[in-house]
Amino acid sequence: MRKLSYSGGCQCGAVRYHVDGALEGAHLCHCRMCQKAVGNYFMPLASAANQAFTLTRGEPKWFHSSDPVKRGFCENCGTPLFFKTIGSPTIAVALGTLDDPSAVPPERSDGIISRVTFFGHINELPNNEIDRSDLSGGIESIRSTNHQHPDHDTDNWPEAAS
Ligand SMILES: [Zn+2]
Ligand SMILES: [Zn+2]
Repeated sequence: MRKLSYSGGCQCGAVRYHVDGALEGAHLCHCRMCQKAVGNYFMPLASAANQAFTLTRGEPKWFHSSDPVKRGFCENCGTPLFFKTIGSPTIAVALGTLDDPSAVPPERSDGIISRVTFFGHINELPNNEIDRSDLSGGIESIRSTNHQHPDHDTDNWPEAAS
């Protein structure tokens, strides 16, 4: 049997998690609450059994978007991380926060009544290279001052300043 294990976390690295088991029911939720919660057109989610899920660093902050549902996010950097129905045996993680976001492809779309009207055209957009020539240091001034946590677990974070 295939061993399933996933790690992920927020942008700043204050909240990190592991799933030691399957992530099931992967979907894109287009509902208006998910759009608002992530500031995006949809939220990608998949569920882990509660016993397979562990926080490995920090604690999320929770917002009850309704009485039965709370949404976990990093209070330091604002990254949306979790979707939890109270009393459920599972917790859903936002798939863009996985260290490998390609690891769990979505299987369906939910909440399509709120799907943005141009969603079907997103794949037709022209591709653009990010050059940041507006910055005096160009793209290098972004790369060399990157404060985003890397896409793997770290023993110490933030890394000691050099
Ligand atoms: Zn964070
Ligand atoms: Zn939703």
